[in-house]
Formats: sequence, C-alpha cells, structure tokens
Amino acid sequence: MQKEYDIIVVGAGPAGTTAARFAAEQGVSVLVLEKDRDVGYPVRCGEAASKDGIEQFIEPNPKWIASTISSFILVAPDETEVKLNFDRRGYVLERRIFDYELAKIASRSGAEIITKAYVHDLLRNGDGICGVKIEHEGEKKEIKSKIVIAADGVESRIGRFAGINTTTHFSDMECCVQYTVSNINLENSSCYFYFGSKYPPGGYLWIFPKGNNSVNIGLGIGGNQAKKRSPLSYLNEFIETKYPNISRLTVVSGGVPCSVTLKEIVKQNVMLCGDAAHQVNPLSGGGIVSGMIGGSICGRIAGEAIKKNNLTHLKNYPKEWHQRVGKKHEMYYRVKTGIYKFTDEKLNSIAHSAIKIPDEKRTLGGIFKIALFDQPGLLIDIAKLFIPDLSLENKRL
Ligand SMILES: Cc1cc2nc3c(=O)[nH]c(=O)nc-3n(C[C@H](O)[C@H](O)[C@H](O)COP(=O)(O)OP(=O)(O)OC[C@H]3O[C@@H](n4cnc5c(N)ncnc54)[C@H](O)[C@@H]3O)c2cc1C
Repeated sequence: MQKEYDIIVVGAGPAGTTAARFAAEQGVSVLVLEKDRDVGYPVRCGEAASKDGIEQFIEPNPKWIASTISSFILVAPDETEVKLNFDRRGYVLERRIFDYELAKIASRSGAEIITKAYVHDLLRNGDGICGVKIEHEGEKKEIKSKIVIAADGVESRIGRFAGINTTTHFSDMECCVQYTVSNINLENSSCYFYFGSKYPPGGYLWIFPKGNNSVNIGLGIGGNQAKKRSPLSYLNEFIETKYPNISRLTVVSGGVPCSVTLKEIVKQNVMLCGDAAHQVNPLSGGGIVSGMIGGSICGRIAGEAIKKNNLTHLKNYPKEWHQRVGKKHEMYYRVKTGIYKFTDEKLNSIAHSAIKIPDEKRTLGGIFKIALFDQPGLLIDIAKLFIPDLSLENKRL
C-alpha cells in the first residue's frame, strides 16, 4: 500500500469495484479499501438482477449465474397467480463469486484492492478532505488521496463524515430478511413475488431460484411496519405454512434505502455511489445494477477530473446520474407511494383482471395500468417506465 493515491474507494461491493474500474481505466491511481476479510462475503442480497443490466459491465459466465429467469409469478393474497413471461431475461446471481469477479476486473484495470481495511474517518487538511484514516491488520494508518469515493453501502458513514445528509426516512428504509433454503421444488426459471397483508403489508415476499432445489426466500417491509411486527416472524410463518420440510442454510438481514437518490452525492472532493448514495430502485429494492451504473459514472468522472486537474468537473456526476437513472427512480418512487396502501381486496381484484389478459399480451406495465387507473397522474410515469425501448438503465455505456 502506498501513502498516496489519486482516488480512494471505500467499499468493495458492486458499486465500489465498478467505480474503481472506471476510474482506473482513466489511467489514474486507485485504491479500494474493504473492511471485510473477503470481497463478496457475507452476501446480504436476494441476488436477482436484469440480464441486460448486468451484461453492460461483465460477460456472462455460468460460474456466477445460479439461474436464468424468464418469468415472474405475482401471487395475490387469495393465491391467484399472475404469470408474466419476458424476453429480456434476468439472472439470479451467485454474488459471492460475482462480486469477486467485479473486483478482479477492477484490479486488471489497474486498481489496487485491500481487504480487512476499515476506514474509520476522513483525513482533513484545514477545511478540506485529503484522504482516509484506516485500521488495517491491527495498525492505524493514514492514506492520502485527491478524491474519496464512498461506496460503503447502506450503513454508509463516509458521506456523513463529509457533512452530507445521508438520513433515510424510516418508512423508506426497507427492513429485509432472507433465508437461503434447500429441499424445495419450484420452477427454476421463475421468480415468485407474494403481495398482501400477511406477506407483509406494504412490502413483498420473494422466492428466487438458485438451482438444485435451493432458493433465496425473503421479504422486505417498511421501517414503520417493521416496528409493529418483526420481518422474521412474517417470513417464518410463511415458510412453516407453505414449506415445512425445507432446510434453512443461511439467514441474512439488512436494510435497503428505497427512497429517491440523496440530494447531495458530491461534496467538494467526496463522491457517493451505490447504496451509500441511495441509488436503489425504490419500487423493487434492486440496487445491484443501479449501483454499478452509479459507480461507473462516478468512477469515470473522478478519473477525468484528476486527468484534467479540475475538481469542479465532479459536478457532472449528479447531472449524468439523474439523466440516466435518477429521474427514473423518482418516477418509481411515485408509483411505489401510489400502490403502497393497496388493500388485499384491491390486490385480488387487480390479479383477477390481469389473468383475463392473454399470456402473450400481459406485461408489467399493463398490470400497473390496471392497478393505477384511478390515479391518472401516475399513468404517465407508468408509460415512461415500462416502454422497453426507453429503458435508460439498459443502454450500453
Ligand atoms: C436482504 C436483501 C436482499 C436484496 N436483494 C436484492 C436483489 O435481489 N437484487 C438487487 O439488485 N438488490 C438487492 N438488494 C440490494 C443490494 O444488495 C444492494 O443494493 C447492493 O449490494 C448495493 O451495492 P453497494 O456496492 O452499494 O453496497 P454493498 O454491496 O453493501 O457494499 C458495500 C461494501 O462496503 C464495505 N464497507 C462498509 N463500510 C466500510 C468502511 N468503513 N471501510 C471499509 N469498507 C466498508 C462493506 O463491507 C461492503 O463490502 C438486497 C438487499 C438486501 C439487504
């Protein structure tokens, strides 16, 4: 480890390693600091992501693809199943391997990565920030840099240290819990989503197949609801009722910031990306692809700023992010608030209408149109979000 780098990235999740890669590709020096022993572990994720989104950044490889998804099955409170087939397939990843591969790509691009390196504070020079303070292998060290990128996930502290308001409204912080289970026999190409007050209210329960009769089965619930009853008790009740004979191999829990992007994602020479910047799709809670997009823009712009020797260039990061994804997340957020309080009766009636649409004509956008027909303001958002060719996230970089 040197004493000084152009850019330091805190956190080696998908956002951090993608930021490091795109910065290093500009020919500047980059150091990634990860507090855990291993990149990619522990996994706190359902691991589902869109195929097109992932393939913008990495060639598909069976070693990190647990299964390929070609349909969603939406289950209403009365158990009505609405199946949606789609051409743009999705993946359930093996994130432990996937995150590792992203780190290897960043490293091949020239970034240095160090694990067991906990960043506990920013290094200051008068009013400015000039690096980070770390604990590494029992030693305290200071490393200088011209730019610090905070990709330190949902519990991000670096943004706060830099004076950025990183708080999430309690109701927007999805409290998630998930088991990886085996001995379950479900279609390997379908993701299941359960909605309704018992699965829990204001959130959804997911089952994502991982092959060989194993699945990720979890749920997310807004902070307000989680105060009333624990997410784990909802999940255990579901499993005990529906799949009493499964084995629970792992359990993980964590928060997902399902708000719009933070107001400030750059302050002086500190930039935030991924969960740390709240770059998660607020409707689905998916943050892998959007975090990588955020990381790629953030890293490239940081590298360009160093090359130009002009830190005011960093202001282009929020602009590009909002143009590409951030504005879309604002629409998803409005849709989320529109459907958030649906009763079980309303969800059942949407499902009953949806199954009447022929399979080949049934789309997610169509179902949202049925759900929100009495909220015309949101129908424009639906049209913009679900016309596939307008999908900004999937444009190649
Ligand atoms: C239960 C659950 C299920 C989910 N399911 C999905 C899903 O199916 N699909 C999807 O797209 N998204 C899902 N998400 C969200 C997704 O996991 C995140 O959006 C994604 O991991 C964000 O990537 P990131 O790089 O921003 O942060 P992270 O992946 O959280 O990486 C941050 C890294 O920073 C490190 N770090 C933190 N602080 C420090 C520090 N001070 N010093 C050094 N290192 C530090 C951490 O150890 C970590 O490795 C889920 C989340 C949860 C909790």
